[in-house]
Amino acid sequence: MGAPPTRPADRALTKPRRRLTSAVAALIALLAVGAGVLVGLSTPAPAPADAPEREFSAARAYRNVEVIAAEPHVAGSAANDRVREHLVATLRGLGLQTEVQDAVAPEAGQLSGAAGGATLARVRNVVARLPGTDPTGKVFLVSHYDSVQTGPGGNDDAAGTATILEVARALTTGPRPRNDIVFVLTDAEEACLCGAAGFAGDHPLARDGGVVLNLEARGSTGPVIMFETSRNNAKLVEVFGKAAPHPVGTSFAVEIYRALPNDTDFTAFLDRKFVGLNSAYIDGGAIYHTPLDVPARVDRGSLQMHGDNALGLAREFGRTDLGDLRAGHDDTYFPVLGGLVRYPGWLTLPLAVAALLAVGALGWLLRRRGRATAGTLAAGFGLTLLPVVVAPLGAWLLWAAITTIRPGYTELLDPYRPVWYRLAVVALSAAVLFCWYALLRRRIGPAALAFGGLAWLAVFGVLLAVAVPGGAYLTTLPALAGALAGFAALATRRDGPWPVVAVTLAAAVAVVILLPPVVLLFPALGMGMGAVAALVAVLLGLAVLPVVDLLHPRAGGQRGLLALRARRLGALPAAAAALAAVVLAGVGLAVDRFDAAHPVPTHLMYALDAGTGKAAWLTREEKPQPWTDGYVDRSIAVADDFPGLGNSEMRAGPAAAAPVPAPKLDLLSDTRTGDQRVLRLRVTPQRQVRLLTLHVDTSTATVRSASVAGRDVPVEPGGGKWGFGIVFHAPPPEGVEVTLTLVPGAGAVSVRAMDASDGLSGVPGFRERPEGVGVVGSHSSEMLAVARTYPL
Ligand SMILES: [Zn+2]
Repeated sequence: MGAPPTRPADRALTKPRRRLTSAVAALIALLAVGAGVLVGLSTPAPAPADAPEREFSAARAYRNVEVIAAEPHVAGSAANDRVREHLVATLRGLGLQTEVQDAVAPEAGQLSGAAGGATLARVRNVVARLPGTDPTGKVFLVSHYDSVQTGPGGNDDAAGTATILEVARALTTGPRPRNDIVFVLTDAEEACLCGAAGFAGDHPLARDGGVVLNLEARGSTGPVIMFETSRNNAKLVEVFGKAAPHPVGTSFAVEIYRALPNDTDFTAFLDRKFVGLNSAYIDGGAIYHTPLDVPARVDRGSLQMHGDNALGLAREFGRTDLGDLRAGHDDTYFPVLGGLVRYPGWLTLPLAVAALLAVGALGWLLRRRGRATAGTLAAGFGLTLLPVVVAPLGAWLLWAAITTIRPGYTELLDPYRPVWYRLAVVALSAAVLFCWYALLRRRIGPAALAFGGLAWLAVFGVLLAVAVPGGAYLTTLPALAGALAGFAALATRRDGPWPVVAVTLAAAVAVVILLPPVVLLFPALGMGMGAVAALVAVLLGLAVLPVVDLLHPRAGGQRGLLALRARRLGALPAAAAALAAVVLAGVGLAVDRFDAAHPVPTHLMYALDAGTGKAAWLTREEKPQPWTDGYVDRSIAVADDFPGLGNSEMRAGPAAAAPVPAPKLDLLSDTRTGDQRVLRLRVTPQRQVRLLTLHVDTSTATVRSASVAGRDVPVEPGGGKWGFGIVFHAPPPEGVEVTLTLVPGAGAVSVRAMDASDGLSGVPGFRERPEGVGVVGSHSSEMLAVARTYPL
């Protein structure tokens, strides 16, 4: 294939300086649009403590964050009791009918199935009601007040809980809403979502369902993103766009979230007949679930955004007729410069097909006008796959190299200061794209390459419309805008201003639509999956190519020395971006070092078999940090000795036996009918523990049915020796009663009980972490587990 033919007239009209001026003007316009996008995603200024009483104030809410997150307060702990008393007193102080729902509740979703059995918890939810004047239904404001055992939960979820307290205060100052507003501060979210499941399943106020607004955080900063909805969300999204002052949300996030192994209290409500919206801020994920998640690490701007949106939505849902909020369809929606654009999901596929047809028609026109040939169009399409594949691969390799230099990153959701690495990935994507473009532009021609980019965007649009409809807008709309710009450019004088205006407008559409996902995907997925953001960045780059092309001399415009100089200039953006990628990665490594305030995360736990006196140090770190490596020396499967710890391989090392008692097991009754035995047991922890597990060796008996604290639990065949198990979080001091109906084998039935507390100080052989070594945010960090087998 050769360069596309250029008409003599075009050549004569080439004016490099004017072209450069157009390029600079267009790029400045795009930078302005990009800046507008970033402003639209930024957080509002926090309102001071003396803000009008009808408004939400981050400063007022923050006072409650400080009380709630004064110390770690895991479900069942004395610290959590104190938090609950504060919540009850605060809500009663507002004149709200407030009660504590004290119940044993099952888990929601499939969160902790891996932890070794049917999961329950003793929960104490704080529930307050603001009765409506003429209710058509109920609005539920939900957050969890418990924290993980490893940190005080300043962001997760004291921020959400304090937001609800401040929203409740604001709602009680004005005229009463039409609908009931119910404030649900749940317990044991971190353990098993059990508090939310207990409320949604058992509480009288939950019987008729309603609208749930769940408030979460999985980091410490950044915009609050409405990332999850119930199905058929069109009416809910309409209210969100109208009533949330900062409506950052995208139908793409819903799809991303469904693909991730995460859950929040919202899941428990979705399991029932509720509709609703789930919101969280997620940047600053390095401190998530760690001791560093203290009140001071709560971004007041994020807190203000949480509150502004929650209050706006509570007021709007408070006056809306809640009779029929379930629409017939989902909406596609995304943030545009501080607002929310939405259209019905059933438009997704027709739009995607229209974009594909438009891009096809553009290709046909380009060929007719002599801007490309069938060959160059085909080559443009085929070769565009190169940057689409190479840039994400490059991002992945870059992160692999960085984690080789700094292995501690593998245990972090995101680095402490990730911005340099994010920019490095963007620069790397740009370098790949510019380099590819500079190499192919003369041979394939800018028109055919622009066509290739738009064609892939359109193809992705159709694929997404079929598989991930909420994300199809990301590529469909830029492809459609690009094709329309192409038509406009071909319909006007090539040397006039309109082609530049048209391609710049289309590029602006791409920036508005694709820049937010680039910005939000980094914190959502972490640097380990920076390749996804790189992919989106390349798609954005492809849509912007016709503007980038203005930096190059017009195709076929120069000959001889001038062309050589121009080609060198054309290589400049690629070289600059590549250099930027290297420099930014280097700056990241230099700036984001581990130190006392940014410790390298480590995972350690201790497990004791009280029957044999054998003990072990265990870690979930795959390549242990130097500190952890001092405890472990081999890989073992823990499931046989500690079925409550799941069935994965862990690194382990020998430990001395600590004088810690195993849970006591009392046989309350033992009745035999036919081949069945019914065992009524009480398992009682002999110390303050966070969880209790009980497993049956299914080679000694087949479990037919089981109940825990009077509640039936599912009996599903599990793998391994301990084929049936129960996990009970926040057990009361008097223990938990378990009834097992089973068919025993020839000998005694073998039952293993385990319990676990938090904190390793005082365990023989444990050395406190030095400065710069921290605790990883995990549900098993610092766990002290003791197990014992009882033959019955
Ligand atoms: Zn959490």
